[in-house]
Amino acid sequence: MTEKIVIVGSGPAGWACAIYAARANMAPVVYEGAISEENRLKGTLPLGQLNLTTEVENFPGFPDGILGPELMMNMRRQAERFGARIVTEDVLEVDLKQRPFVLRDSSANTVQTHTLVIATGASANYLGLPSEGVYKNRGVSACAVCDGALPRFRNHPVIVVGGGDSACEEANYLTKFASKVYLVHRRDTLRASRIMAERTLKNDRIEPVWNTVVEEVLGDEVNGMTGARVKNLKTGESHVIQATGMFVAIGHTPNVKFLNGQIETDDKGFVKLPKPFQTYTSVEGVFAAGDVADPIYKQAITAAGMGCKAALDAERYLAEKGIH
Ligand code: NAP
Repeated sequence: MTEKIVIVGSGPAGWACAIYAARANMAPVVYEGAISEENRLKGTLPLGQLNLTTEVENFPGFPDGILGPELMMNMRRQAERFGARIVTEDVLEVDLKQRPFVLRDSSANTVQTHTLVIATGASANYLGLPSEGVYKNRGVSACAVCDGALPRFRNHPVIVVGGGDSACEEANYLTKFASKVYLVHRRDTLRASRIMAERTLKNDRIEPVWNTVVEEVLGDEVNGMTGARVKNLKTGESHVIQATGMFVAIGHTPNVKFLNGQIETDDKGFVKLPKPFQTYTSVEGVFAAGDVADPIYKQAITAAGMGCKAALDAERYLAEKGIH
């Protein structure tokens, strides 16, 4: 059997696409991702980045805000209600040279499909220091919501690295548990939106450490991470911040590895969308939506909008090809 549409990814782009495709009688299959320790560490568990966040205050329709995981479960339920079929596996390989396309998943099943929507989002970047890898899961994390409540962070100082909305959100969230949060940023102005930046700088449990980068994560076998050596880029001086945790919030990289170079991406890995305002990719019949194809906006609402467009683009493509 050949599916009409397979959607890979389960963030706002994936579910919006599934809702529209299901209502257009395309019987979409959604690969929402596998539930595994590897995916937990990479931040690629089902339901996307919003499932790793707390209050979402800017998604229209929720004047009092909504929790990210609740919003995602609502979208999933809505897609299911209209008949989307959900597979809780990762897609590991695709063959886009054959028609229909062939996908292989993490339980070694294959599926054939006439159209494919890539909605795999992006995952958190790390600094790339060797010492950072040593203390991953023992102090170093890229997800405050996932790990912030662990005993090792309670009533101890922690570090957040970055100056964007994510870093500010993580820093504010961590003040619930940590005795103090050092916000280590390589410049002396935050990139975050004004409302987030103001909230962060007003919080007296957050201490910004400006013009500073992390040189080495410090720790030992018994305690895991105990601190970080940081360097002031203006003075060139280094000092140690005692902290039991470091939360890295320095941006994200698109999840395109499973495509194995078969779709054109830009130099940062974002899927290229050659037709303005549409979701067509370099391969006919393959569409992309959300953060995986968006180097600019990266918002939940823009991802959902792109997911809707991908379903409509795929529907038109199938009609043009006479596939019903
Ligand atoms: P971002 O806006 O790209 O910010 C990344 C931050 O990390 C920047 O401050 C950057 O420094 C710093 N950085 C990057 N590479 C670094 C490195 N190697 N070493 C040290 N610092 C490094 O990423 P984001 O905060 O994840 O946000 C991504 C998008 O999601 C944004 O559009 C944001 O608005 C959105 N978002 C929105 C919300 C919300 O609305 N509630 C929440 C989270 C994210 P520089 O400033 O010097 O470049």
